Amino acid sequence: MAHTEWIHALEKVVGADHVISGSEAGTFAVDGKAPRAVVFPRTVEETSSVMAIASEAALKTIPWGAGSQMALGAIPARVDLVVALKHLNHLVDHEWGDMTATVQGGMRLKDFQQALGQHQQFLPLDPPFADQATVGGLLATNASGPRRLLYGTARDLLIATTVVHADGTVTKGGAKVVKNVTGYDMNKLYIGSLGTLGIIAEATFRVYPRIAWEKTWLAPFLTLDHAEEAIAQIMDSSLVPNALELLDKAAARRVTTRAGIGWTDGQYALATSVGSVAEMAVDTQIEEIGRISRKVGSPGGNLLHDEPHHTFWREVRDITPGTNGTAPRHLRAVMKGGVLISKVADAFRVGEEEAKTQGLDLCIVAEAGSGIVRYYVSAEDRSLQEFVEGMVSTVERIRSTCEAQEGSLIILEADAALKTRIDVWGPVRGLEVMQGIKERFDPRQTLNPGRFVGGI
Ligand SMILES: Cc1cc2nc3c(=O)[nH]c(=O)nc-3n(C[C@H](O)[C@H](O)[C@H](O)COP(=O)(O)OP(=O)(O)OC[C@H]3O[C@@H](n4cnc5c(N)ncnc54)[C@H](O)[C@@H]3O)c2cc1C
Repeated sequence: MAHTEWIHALEKVVGADHVISGSEAGTFAVDGKAPRAVVFPRTVEETSSVMAIASEAALKTIPWGAGSQMALGAIPARVDLVVALKHLNHLVDHEWGDMTATVQGGMRLKDFQQALGQHQQFLPLDPPFADQATVGGLLATNASGPRRLLYGTARDLLIATTVVHADGTVTKGGAKVVKNVTGYDMNKLYIGSLGTLGIIAEATFRVYPRIAWEKTWLAPFLTLDHAEEAIAQIMDSSLVPNALELLDKAAARRVTTRAGIGWTDGQYALATSVGSVAEMAVDTQIEEIGRISRKVGSPGGNLLHDEPHHTFWREVRDITPGTNGTAPRHLRAVMKGGVLISKVADAFRVGEEEAKTQGLDLCIVAEAGSGIVRYYVSAEDRSLQEFVEGMVSTVERIRSTCEAQEGSLIILEADAALKTRIDVWGPVRGLEVMQGIKERFDPRQTLNPGRFVGGI
């Protein structure tokens, strides 16, 4: 199909006002590759027709939620079309008595939470940039945040999906009951697939009642050893924290400054959040966490509740690389590692050592109870080449530390210049099976080609 032909076909489906092309489409570039057109479908049916045209015209196509995470993934092989989902943003239904809700893929998580809040319910997913992220985008990237400790990830909350496949076929999986699958649980396959298997058009979640009381104990530690001991004791107790986050000295300084919390520089921070229906249950646990922290060497602590509690956790989730986020974009990178819970402090030590050797600025934040460690790296005054060289060595060193513990390290955000030097995904087990699945779902390699693991 010629260029003008497929543009015309798209315009016939969604209306000329909902297709942009040429230089206007440049703002939707991925790793510097601009699409030839961007289309904005408003319904599942329109999305299906758009994909049928994309498939027929052999257009390499990228689904686009809020675009907050387009730096994730390898450099795309080619970009012809972006399918922007911002109009697919409605709440389909909220069966609050059954504790389920169905939402379109392009709805922002923030708007979804607001709708659920009308019945005092919420979805316990708190990914970075939750105010911007769309439900489809967070499912496609399997994004999660500190609350993962208590509620798990999207895999534990998603019970049904409607997916538009690469050729336009629409499939539905699961149902609005919690036990809803006999056979392969196909819903789970789309989670973390980076939009390579289909466009998530609708998703149904099991939702939870809002927490009545929530407070945080923020404990400073002068050494990692002491923080490590506190984590071990909290995890090995009958306490039920909903988040347990360890911040290195730089992250602690940054977050407390931005959240307006008094803090002495040069200390690690361990933040433990507890929620319950009764304030007394929260206070009793917070007291015990404070006691454990002091016993293992914490010199003090801050109790956060109400607005300071919420502000603190938002700042933790939304941290960006660079002092005050001022480093230029091409001199920044974000890495996410997975290690054993008992090795979180070691993952900090390796990161700190390597950043010092390479002269890079670094903030580290870990979900200490899940073993997820995020490294925010930047350089203010170095050349791109120097930054890339330093990062290549840093990635290799931290990745091999994670892999030695059966974990992994992926790059969440990096400039294309760095992506040409490293594999953002690292080695992946079972790649042949994944390639087979991709071949079956998207034989023409229409969706997000080249961006996922092993060049899928
Ligand atoms: C600095 C930083 C740190 C982060 N840290 C973490 C972290 O620690 N843990 C974590 O889990 N996540 C992390 N993320 C990821 C981020 O929170 C989510 O990826 C983001 O919320 C996705 O939402 P979005 O709507 O902006 O997606 P977009 O950026 O628009 O899209 C993300 C990907 O999903 C695909 N996609 C979008 N919508 C759909 C859809 N409806 N159907 C199919 N595919 C689709 C796109 O093609 C793209 O590949 C981080 C992001 C940043 C920028």
